[in-house]
Amino acid sequence: MPNSPILNAMTVDLEDWMQSTLGPDHPITSRVIPNLERFLRLLAKHDVRATFFSLGKVCEKFPILLEMVIEAGHEIASHGYGHELLYDISPERFREDLDRSIEVIERQTGTKPLGYRAPAFSLTRKSWWAGPILAQAGFKYSSSVFPIRGRRYGVPDAPRFPHKWPECDLTEFPLTTAQLLGRNLPVCGGGYFRLLPFPILRRAIRQVNGQGHPVVVYMHPYEMDVYEVADLKRQGYPISRKLQLTQSLFRSRIYPRLDRMFKEFRFGPMAEVLNIE
Ligand SMILES: [Zn+2]
Repeated sequence: MPNSPILNAMTVDLEDWMQSTLGPDHPITSRVIPNLERFLRLLAKHDVRATFFSLGKVCEKFPILLEMVIEAGHEIASHGYGHELLYDISPERFREDLDRSIEVIERQTGTKPLGYRAPAFSLTRKSWWAGPILAQAGFKYSSSVFPIRGRRYGVPDAPRFPHKWPECDLTEFPLTTAQLLGRNLPVCGGGYFRLLPFPILRRAIRQVNGQGHPVVVYMHPYEMDVYEVADLKRQGYPISRKLQLTQSLFRSRIYPRLDRMFKEFRFGPMAEVLNIE
């Protein structure tokens, strides 16, 4: 039984790998369905509820996805419609993409999403206009800003913990960083989550919880799919060796690692962690 009193946020970006990583012109594969099933089974095993930031066009192609997530009692939030990077599009196009994603979620679930996560954490200084637009569109929270100096994303001087967005009614829950060896490292998702030894992850969560703050862990259903990238490469899709390595190395660690993490720490959906209704 987890002993930490702090409720942390478990989040899943519900999308298909090839389409969101290789580019929007690639097909959305049905692998997303068994991958989601695996994820839901693991969450059910630990009685953990999570937030699913769901991509509009993937849910539109496979309506069973949101049905499965709702059936299992999780929170549905928005990951936009077309996975377009915010700093590459205009504020008007962003609003259209948001409205389209809300429409898909509302049609399929009967409720409006409260939360939003930008594709590839593309809410940066360059797309800072996005915060007020999210509030206007009816969102109550966002989990889109990474307080790191990344190559493609990141706002290194952004606050590290949940806070109100300036001048609008929106709470931002920044992606978790841990201070290790004098640097802010993004430990709670992506490659770091797979590559770093578990004790470092544990120490990072304890460090943030010890300061009285929740962490947010982010995952994708495809990270449970150990053979996906090699399979697609065999089928002739343009996947470089480097991409294959960075995207699939240690995917086999994800399941046992989450298993262990859920035994040691408490997790819940983001709206519950932020106390937003
Ligand atoms: Zn995404």
